[in-house]
Amino acid sequence: MMRAETPTQFATALRWFHVPVWIIIVSLMGFVLVHLRAGRRWLAWIVCILRTFSLLLNFLVGQNLNYLEVTRLRSIHFLGESVSVAEGVSNPCMFIGQLSLLLFLVFVIDAIISVWRRGDSRQALVIGGSILSFVLTAIVMGVLVVWQIVIFPLTLSIFFLGFIVVMGVEMSRSTLQVVQLSDELSQRTDWLDLAADSAGVGIWLWDFKTNHIWGTERARTLYGFSPDEPIPFEKYLSRLHPDDLNWVVQASQACIKDGTDFRDDYRIVLPDGSLRWMRVTAKTFLVSADSIPDRMTGISVDITEYKESQLKQQKEQEFTNTLLEGLPGIFYLYTLPDLRLVRWNKNHEKLTGFSSEEMYGKHVLDWFAPADYPAIAHAVEVVEEQGNVSMELEILKKDGRSLPLQATGIFFSDGKGEYLMGIGMDITRRKQMELELQQKRNELTHVTRVSMIGELASTLAHELNQPLGAILRNAEAVELMLEDQSPDIGELRDIMQDIRKDDKRAGEVIDRMRAMMKKREAPQRHIDLKLLVDEALVLVQPDAKKRKVRLVLDVNPRLPLIYGDQVQLQQVFINLLLNAFDALGDNPPEIPLVTVLVQPVGETVEVAVSDNGPGIEPDNIAHLFKPFFSTKSDGLGMGLAISRGIIEAHSGRLWAKNNKAGGATFTITLPMAGRGVA
Ligand code: ADP
Repeated sequence: MMRAETPTQFATALRWFHVPVWIIIVSLMGFVLVHLRAGRRWLAWIVCILRTFSLLLNFLVGQNLNYLEVTRLRSIHFLGESVSVAEGVSNPCMFIGQLSLLLFLVFVIDAIISVWRRGDSRQALVIGGSILSFVLTAIVMGVLVVWQIVIFPLTLSIFFLGFIVVMGVEMSRSTLQVVQLSDELSQRTDWLDLAADSAGVGIWLWDFKTNHIWGTERARTLYGFSPDEPIPFEKYLSRLHPDDLNWVVQASQACIKDGTDFRDDYRIVLPDGSLRWMRVTAKTFLVSADSIPDRMTGISVDITEYKESQLKQQKEQEFTNTLLEGLPGIFYLYTLPDLRLVRWNKNHEKLTGFSSEEMYGKHVLDWFAPADYPAIAHAVEVVEEQGNVSMELEILKKDGRSLPLQATGIFFSDGKGEYLMGIGMDITRRKQMELELQQKRNELTHVTRVSMIGELASTLAHELNQPLGAILRNAEAVELMLEDQSPDIGELRDIMQDIRKDDKRAGEVIDRMRAMMKKREAPQRHIDLKLLVDEALVLVQPDAKKRKVRLVLDVNPRLPLIYGDQVQLQQVFINLLLNAFDALGDNPPEIPLVTVLVQPVGETVEVAVSDNGPGIEPDNIAHLFKPFFSTKSDGLGMGLAISRGIIEAHSGRLWAKNNKAGGATFTITLPMAGRGVA
């Protein structure tokens, strides 16, 4: 334009000048949108349309957008040279062009503000500022020159050159930074690889667009993929454990949708069938301008060992819990030395009535009444010194009542601390039973004492009856003989001797009773049963004579000794003989007969007393040996009971049975005395 020689030349040059102006404006807006990532698109579109429209007008209306017609050229001096400037009729369409420039200005200012707000103050100032100054200059110069307010050539290119320089500097700077960053990044990637690899961490990236997964070598190994094998997402899914597949897919989708992180553990099954646990932390992010993330990246760590030990621990814990909760008593664990309760079972709560909040940290002494403190302190000392203790104690329940326990405590150390651990069995029932038993024992002692006195009285009466009866009968016999004119002195002497013997026996009975009362054991000695039976027969002889009973004694000569109380055993034989005489009394057979058979049988000696009387009523056989059972009008019914008691006390047996040929037999067996004694 400055070199134009005719107005037409100038007008044409100005017309074509608008083409690069259009290009500059449109590309500047593009630059702002793409490079600065700022500016409103819709505004850019409006500016674009207006500018294009004004470019059309530039070619259609007048000689160009600025002049309907350039009427003449003026020559002025500029930088030491003579250049052309135009004079002419202004084109009203120029307003549209200037409006587009104003809107472009607004677009740039708005973009600068948002870049500034974003924190890129340097970009806002340098790039934004240079664009702004260029646009401002273009507007001001355009208005001043074209409206011929100032006579000056259009020199916008110079200002544009300034803008190009600024941008050039900025871009070179960015390029330099990119190179540095890329160096740094590759170094960091190396470090990251090294760190991730040594930590056993696999890094991976899932590109949603290609639906493929990229992974570090470690990540591939973890999931059982070969180093070069492509990994489409479906292939990765095939590694997931069937039980975890669904929830992992759902959780990943939720992360993509909500933009949240994925943090979870899941199982995978490797091609060789082995099961591994993975701990995965992943993040979604977007690279493009879309609002939906386009990739997910994360790290995976193999935590199989950890999970297995955790599961083992969990199982052990469950086992311990089941064990503790299944205990019939209470379980406790106190820390040492401060003796605070840190672990217990539900039974503990149930039996004592305290809630778990109240239990935790309870001091061991809080369970006891002050009077028990020394005993408990001592027990704790014992545990610490000897490792264990067992004792009966009573703890206080929440309701103030006490709970008796059989407690066992042991010293326990887990490396971190020392504890007093143990169980307490509820012994309420046992205590109650012990109490009841004690009461019963007291009652029984009383009853026994009463019945013993009764028994003793009847025994005494029974046993004294025999010698006293014999004395009476002998006295009567003496009286009868004295009535005689010339009594047989010899016989009288014999009778008097019998009386003395009976009297002595009565005395012995009383002595023995006294001994029993004093709880003194009657003397035990070796006894020859032949002598004993002989003596008993001698004693009952007068009775036999009186009742006209024949006595037959059959004793085996090779009889072993037995061991026992002579007087007691004699009582038994006399009792059996007198009973036999009684049986023969009422309805005597032709020849009343009592046989005594003494013989060894195995390891015992047997004495059988038989009579040929009426025998025992079958109904009575079961009752004969019960105290106070008697079929006699004057009978006490104690004889057989006491006799059996005596024989059993000598570890022998006494029983009765009816004879086939009539009458009854009472049999006694007594163990022979120890070998070498006989
Ligand atoms: P008591 O002689 O005072 O009756 P015992 O205990 O000695 O008490 O005897 C109990 C009962 O056993 C007798 O009343 C009698 O009925 C029965 N009895 C004992 N010996 C014989 C016997 N030799 N034959 C038949 N009955 C007998």
